Amino acid sequence: MAVWLKTADYVALVHHARGIFPKVACGLLGGKIDQGEKKVLGIWYINNKDASGAHFAIDIKEQFAAVKEMRDRGWQQLGNWHSHPLQSAIPSDKDKEQAFDANASYFILSLAGGEPVLCSYQVAPDKTVTKEDLCIVPDF
Ligand SMILES: [Zn+2]
Repeated sequence: MAVWLKTADYVALVHHARGIFPKVACGLLGGKIDQGEKKVLGIWYINNKDASGAHFAIDIKEQFAAVKEMRDRGWQQLGNWHSHPLQSAIPSDKDKEQAFDANASYFILSLAGGEPVLCSYQVAPDKTVTKEDLCIVPDF
């Protein structure tokens, strides 16, 4: 399934993750599924309870509040995102373990190189990973 993200949201995401570097930044993706495509309409920044450079734990209270905000806007949670400060944008074994929703999009933002790299994945119940088409455009 293709995933659509606005350039301004991407730029804000990179800015936020760089501000937390070298810790892992994380959060949620809210939006809509429209004609078989995921449209990310908002990115939520959630405190990483692990405060770590290698892994993340989304604060559950902040998650509930974010999902309520999404519902109030008529959106749904499409997935979550986190940064890889020093690793490439490929799901780690722990990322796969923590991925329980086969329909969700899992964004990984790598800050390891000169330019940030953002990829979206789906993780099947057997932990097979599939990369999604991520389209970053000015508007949709
Ligand atoms: Zn990861």
